[in-house]
Amino acid sequence: MENCIFCSILAHDIPSHKVYEDDKVYAFLDITQVTPGHTLVIPKKHVSDIFEYDETLAADVFSRIPKIARALEASFPEMEGLNIINNNKEIAYQSVFHSHIHLIPRYGKEDDFAIHFGNHMENYRAEDLATLAAKIKAQVKSE
Ligand code: AMP
Ligand code: ZN
Repeated sequence: MENCIFCSILAHDIPSHKVYEDDKVYAFLDITQVTPGHTLVIPKKHVSDIFEYDETLAADVFSRIPKIARALEASFPEMEGLNIINNNKEIAYQSVFHSHIHLIPRYGKEDDFAIHFGNHMENYRAEDLATLAAKIKAQVKSE
């Protein structure tokens, strides 16, 4: 797709530091290196975000994640954990609209990566959760 920075990387029009490639996916170092080894995994097919994946593309992309995760683990013995992040739409911090999965190795609490999970469980009774779950369940489509 024109004007897509990740399609330009796939076309070798702009440089990247590849860590893995096959016929379906490409993985390369994120330029910001939130933590050392911060890697992006992208489908070679341009899709904007998770809402455009079909099951086949999802299987193609997500099936590669564990081996790339293990490569990071093997490369960085000091790594203590790994966050896998996929931002979808601007409100969710997506800034490049060619879908990508962040693999962010974690080296300790002060490694300059943070994520905040609010806890609002006091606002939800079991019936409220059941209503929410039923609402979502009714929208799950088979492909
Ligand atoms: P997101 O904010 O989830 O859309 O993530 C986009 C990521 O792409 C950011 O972490 C950027 O640092 C990264 N990025 C943007 N341009 C490049 C590039 N040319 N090479 C490597 N990473 C890039
Ligand atoms: Zn693209």
